[in-house]
Amino acid sequence: MNERDSDAVAAMLRGKGYSIVESELDADVVLLNTCSVRDQAEQKAIGKAGHLTKRKRKNPNFILGVMGCMAQNRGNDLLDRLPDLDLIVGTQKFHRVPDHLDHMIATLQGQGPRPDTIVDLEAEDGSQNTIKSHDADKQQVSAFVSIMQGCNMKCSYCIVPKTRGAERARPMDEIVAEIEALAANGTREVTLLGQIVNQYAVREFPFVDKKSPFVQLLERVHAIEGIERIRFTSPHPVGFKDDLIECYARLPKLCEYLHFPMQSGSNRILKAMRRPYTIEKFREIIAKIRAVRPDVYISTDVIVGFPGETDADFELTRHAFDEIGFDMAYLFKYSVRPDTTAEPLGDPIPKAVKEARNQVLLDILGRHSLARNEALIDTVEEVLFEGPAKRGEGMFMGRTRGHRKVIVKATPRLVGQLVPARITEATASTLMGELVLEGMESEQD
Ligand code: SAM
Ligand code: SF4
Repeated sequence: MNERDSDAVAAMLRGKGYSIVESELDADVVLLNTCSVRDQAEQKAIGKAGHLTKRKRKNPNFILGVMGCMAQNRGNDLLDRLPDLDLIVGTQKFHRVPDHLDHMIATLQGQGPRPDTIVDLEAEDGSQNTIKSHDADKQQVSAFVSIMQGCNMKCSYCIVPKTRGAERARPMDEIVAEIEALAANGTREVTLLGQIVNQYAVREFPFVDKKSPFVQLLERVHAIEGIERIRFTSPHPVGFKDDLIECYARLPKLCEYLHFPMQSGSNRILKAMRRPYTIEKFREIIAKIRAVRPDVYISTDVIVGFPGETDADFELTRHAFDEIGFDMAYLFKYSVRPDTTAEPLGDPIPKAVKEARNQVLLDILGRHSLARNEALIDTVEEVLFEGPAKRGEGMFMGRTRGHRKVIVKATPRLVGQLVPARITEATASTLMGELVLEGMESEQD
C-alpha cells in the first residue's frame, strides 16, 4: 500500500514537471513515505530522516518531507526529534504534496526566509479517490491499484484505523477505468489493495445476485482485455463468503495465490486481538478454497508475542501454521502501538521468547516453501516477466501465477509477457528456470 501511495505521489510530481532521480544523493527534494505498524519502522524512518537533515547544512535549499502513517501518527511531535523537516503530510493528503512543494520552492527561490514547516494532516472527504495516478511513461507489467482506504475494524494491536482513518471505498467505475488505462499501457497483472478488500464498498454498493461489491469488481476487472492476472490483498475472514470462494473456480485470471492473514492459531488470543473469527472458521475458508483450487498458494501474517500469549497458545499457532502449510508468511513480533486497545497491556512477553517463537515459524515456513518449490522442478510454469534480475547479464525475473519468483535466461523483449518456463532448480525463496520454446532466445534477439 505504501509503495502504491509513493508511486502515485511520484506520478503526480512528474505530471507537474518534477523528475524522479535514481539516487537520493542527486535529489533536491526527498520525501520519506513511512509505516507505523511497528515501532521499529518508525524508528528507522526517524533515523533516516535525521541523517538526511544533515544535508541542509551544505545545501539550505534541500527539502525534506515525511509522508504517510508516521506523519499521521506523530504529527507536530515529529518536529521535537526532527526540527528541520519541511513537510509533514498525512495519509489523506498525499495529493497535496505537489502544491506544497511548489509553494515551498517558490518561497525559497524568492530568497525569502526559510518557510515554516508545512503540516497537513486533516481528514479529507474523497481522499481515497486521489490515489489513482500512474506514471504514463513507465510500463508497469504488474501494478498495484488502491480500491479503498482506511479500516473500520478494531484489532486491539493495530494502529491502522488511527493512521488511515475510517473505511472509504472508491467508485467501481473509476477503479475499472484506471485498470483499463493500465492495460492499454502494457500492464498484465493487477493487485487490488485495501485493508479488508473483501469488504470493498459493502455500504456504498448493493449485493447483486448475492454477489458482494468486491466480487462484482473482480468480475469487471476480469473482463478487461489485456489483464491476464488478478491478485488482491488483504482479505479478512469476515465477509469471505461463498461468492468470493466461487471466484477461484470460475475466474481463471484470478491467480491461485491468496494472502490470508491468520494472526494467531489460538482462539483465546484471536479474541484478545479482537479478531472476530475462530481458527476453525479460518481453516474452513482455506479448505473451501482448496476444494475449488487445489493448487492454491497461501500466504499469511502472524503476530508472535501478543500480551498474554502462553506457550500453549503459541503451540496452537505452531500447529495451525504447520498443518495449513503456508507457502509464504510475514511474521511479526508484537509491538505496542499508541492509542490501541492493547496498549494498556504493555509488552510482557520477553524479546527472547518472541525471537524463539518467530524462529520456530520461520523454520516451518522454510521447510514448506522449499518442498513446494522443489515439487515444481521439471514442471512448466507460466511466468510473467517483470524485468532484469539482479543476478547476472541476460537473466530476467518473473513470477509464476502462485507468486513464486523465477529467474530465467531470457531477453528484454519478454518483459511484460507470459511465457512458459521449465523449472530447473529451487530454493525456498526462488526458482531457476529455462524458456520452453526452443530457439525463442535467438528469435527474440
Ligand atoms: N488489514 C490487514 C488484516 O487485517 O489482515 C493487515 C494490515 S496490517 C498493516 C499488516 C500486518 O501487520 C497485520 O496483519 C499484522 O500481522 C501486523 N501488525 C499490525 N499491528 C502490529 C503490531 N502492533 N505488532 C506487530 N505486528 C503488527
Ligand atoms: Fe489493522 Fe485489523 Fe484493520 Fe487489518 S483489519 S488494518 S489488522 S485494524
